[in-house]
Amino acid sequence: MSETFYGSDFDALQAFDPDIAGVLLSELARLRGGLQLIASENMSSPQVLTALGSTLSNKYAEGYPGRRYYGGCAEVDKAENLAIERCTALFGAEHANVQPHSGASANQAVYGAFMSPGDTFLAMSLPHGGHLTHGAKVSFSGRWFNAVHYGVDKDTEDIDYDEVERLAKAHHPKVILAGGSAIPRLIDFARFRAIADEVGAILWVDAAHFIGLVAGKAIPSPVPYADVVSFTTHKVLRGPRSGGIICTAEHAAAIDKAVFPLMQGGPQMHTIAAKAVNFKECATPEYADYARQVIANAKVLAATLGEHGIRPTTGGTDTHLSLHDLQPVLVTGMEAEARCDAAGITLNKNAIPFDPQKPNVASGIRVGTPFVTSQGMGSEEMTIVGDLIARAVTTGSSDPDDAVSKDIRGQVTELIGRFPAYAR
Ligand SMILES: *Cc1c(COP(=O)(O)O)cnc(C)c1O
Repeated sequence: MSETFYGSDFDALQAFDPDIAGVLLSELARLRGGLQLIASENMSSPQVLTALGSTLSNKYAEGYPGRRYYGGCAEVDKAENLAIERCTALFGAEHANVQPHSGASANQAVYGAFMSPGDTFLAMSLPHGGHLTHGAKVSFSGRWFNAVHYGVDKDTEDIDYDEVERLAKAHHPKVILAGGSAIPRLIDFARFRAIADEVGAILWVDAAHFIGLVAGKAIPSPVPYADVVSFTTHKVLRGPRSGGIICTAEHAAAIDKAVFPLMQGGPQMHTIAAKAVNFKECATPEYADYARQVIANAKVLAATLGEHGIRPTTGGTDTHLSLHDLQPVLVTGMEAEARCDAAGITLNKNAIPFDPQKPNVASGIRVGTPFVTSQGMGSEEMTIVGDLIARAVTTGSSDPDDAVSKDIRGQVTELIGRFPAYAR
């Protein structure tokens, strides 16, 4: 370790607090010991984790670089300026705010910038692939604003753009929101732009899930179309657990005021430094290769599951994730999640469009390839992973001591042994 860095010191933690040190170790063992297929998770680099575990966490820096409410901000200003410069360059954006604490915080700020309580907005419905912060009743977004929801077409299972247009004309929303958490296909940003222009709405793209694919130039960018794009930094992007917003110069002041002081207090300067590190990583050719491989892997995984009767909605994927209908194999999402868990495979149950089950049971699973691709797995491994998932889902048990669970777990161990996560 460098002599002049003072930060993450595991030995000191273990000596003082063996309970929490034990959690850190067993969580690392859990990550290393199974297949991680949750579409919103990834494996950030040691350099990102180092910035997170640094003394920048101590600094109060309310305000923005050069305009802080506290002294002593010269050093953290450098970190935030680098994060902003790298973020705008990476996405070709006119303005970036790197202070949101998370995806939900970023979204709060976007609402705050463009809407007042009671205003109407249009967004994808949660059961069709949207997000809680897109107007669900249990979220501030559904309680304080009037959310109108569009969904997917029953046949294509992809976004029903005609419905978006019809609802936009009927309700004249202030904001139209595109994006979600379980959308396997590319979003037609040009169509959304045209609809927003027709009704004079702000176009907001919540790119939380797929911004990493945009950063790696593996899919088209929403930036040329959207007024504002909110995102997380810990999903495909592979940075620290946090968020961000990019927007046109026209909306820069409104977004900055909405992040601070409307919604947040002091920014997390250690996380902002880690975001700067991550944006630098994302600008490398290696990251572009990674983003392309994430999609290639997702396509193979979706197709393999489909061959086992675990039908991918929309027929496949263009992104890092696929959503699968388990009704043909007569298993619920809840049961599938438990069976996979017992077999050393972490994924999540997920509602599918027009799902007859309650959300906590669900008829589907969602799988994503960001983590396993970061481990170095490729298309060949994805067929193995698909076969293992299918076997766990259709013939496995939620009991980890069951013979099938044990057998699959053995094969998972063999596979991940060849692609160790956080190998030293
Ligand atoms: C993950 C996600 C969020 C929320 O991000 P958090 O960091 O968990 O708050 C918001 N919108 C979408 C579409 C997401 O997928």
